[in-house]
Amino acid sequence: MTVEVISVGTELLMGSIVNTNAQFLAEQCALLGLSMYNQTVVGDNKERLSDAINTGLGRADIVILTGGLGPTEDDLTKETCAQVMGFSLAEDSHTKDRIREYFKNSIYKDIPDNNWKQAIVPEGAIVLDNDNGTAPGLILEKGEKRAILLPGPPNELIPLFNGKVKPYLQKLRPELIVSQMVKICGVGESQVEDRLLDLIDKQTNPTIATYAKTGEVHVRVTASAPTKEIADKLIKPVVKEIKKRMGTAVYSTREEETLEMAVVRLLKKHELTVATAESCTGGLVAGRIVNVPGSSEVFREGFVTYSNKAKRRHLDVSKSTIKKYGAVSKETAREMAVGGAFATDSDLCVAITGLAGPDGGTEEKPVGLVYMACCMGDKVTVEKYQFKGNRNKIREQSVVKALDLVRRTVLESQE
Ligand code: ATP
Repeated sequence: MTVEVISVGTELLMGSIVNTNAQFLAEQCALLGLSMYNQTVVGDNKERLSDAINTGLGRADIVILTGGLGPTEDDLTKETCAQVMGFSLAEDSHTKDRIREYFKNSIYKDIPDNNWKQAIVPEGAIVLDNDNGTAPGLILEKGEKRAILLPGPPNELIPLFNGKVKPYLQKLRPELIVSQMVKICGVGESQVEDRLLDLIDKQTNPTIATYAKTGEVHVRVTASAPTKEIADKLIKPVVKEIKKRMGTAVYSTREEETLEMAVVRLLKKHELTVATAESCTGGLVAGRIVNVPGSSEVFREGFVTYSNKAKRRHLDVSKSTIKKYGAVSKETAREMAVGGAFATDSDLCVAITGLAGPDGGTEEKPVGLVYMACCMGDKVTVEKYQFKGNRNKIREQSVVKALDLVRRTVLESQE
């Protein structure tokens, strides 16, 4: 079954707003196992909108239109779609009552005349009540073709889609779509694809898709089957094989688990505590750990030691080390980690020192050079990275690598 998204709005074409609805709908349709081969953005123009709907319905089973359901003159989606699909328009008393009710609960006393336009719907359409606005969603069915009309504001579209459209689309497909995520860290997307190439090549059911994130790769394994049990049976051996091939680079197979959640889970499991000593990341690693509910069990203290003086004062990095090797060096990173573990009496301490730029780089030490160290007991691991990108990108990548370094250090200590 194929689906196409038509995003309506001149402001989308002008670049005034980002088309997040298309991204949301594309992701959701993929999860539902619907194939999407085309997307269109069209301005608030009746002729061009008619063309887009005609083309969309010509090549896809379902067209999802977003935007242009508002009360104003330039909101044309409903009228145009009804005309293209041969529906006449009529007032829907239920929607009219809901509009009246909506305004009763709002700060506006009088209902603007043009809002009643939103109670006019294509005759025979399925009306989807919108709890967050006055424009209802609509489903128009004609033979095997369907158009689903949704309001533009994401705070209206997302709940309408999740609550009403998703169950409708699920019913259209006799098969159930089930997927599982395998989250990988410390290995690039092309390396992941290399190691999984034969699995990806022969994929039919389940399918395997890789998604590159900052410092991470997520692999989604998706099966379609008549029941969840059968889908799970299809997915399980593939996930097992991916885990076998990727080894400890897999940090989670839980959809909602982030890297920091996995790190906190691991530390809790082994009853370990961690401290952070950060220079160029300025507390971002500590922030990510503290984002995890219950992290107080494993995290007590973090240092932001941006200046050399701070590195000396709080982490006891020796003056001569900084003088001889520089603040961005493996020696300084090592002393930061050791000093941080000692100062906080934590089982582990991860330290980061690097050049996030844009200034301050030299030929010998270019922007993007980051050293990190992790101290656990007597063992100190020091790693060197040369990241690409702007200041934010360098810092983000450093945070992911630092969290992963903590994870790997704990795993290695248990071997
Ligand atoms: P309303 O009833 O509020 O007028 P509508 O269905 O007519 O809704 P539009 O007028 O096209 O929708 O858009 C209203 C607002 O919704 C836009 O200003 C924008 O903030 C948001 N919006 C519209 N389309 C998109 C989109 N594709 N992605 C993200 N946001 C969007």
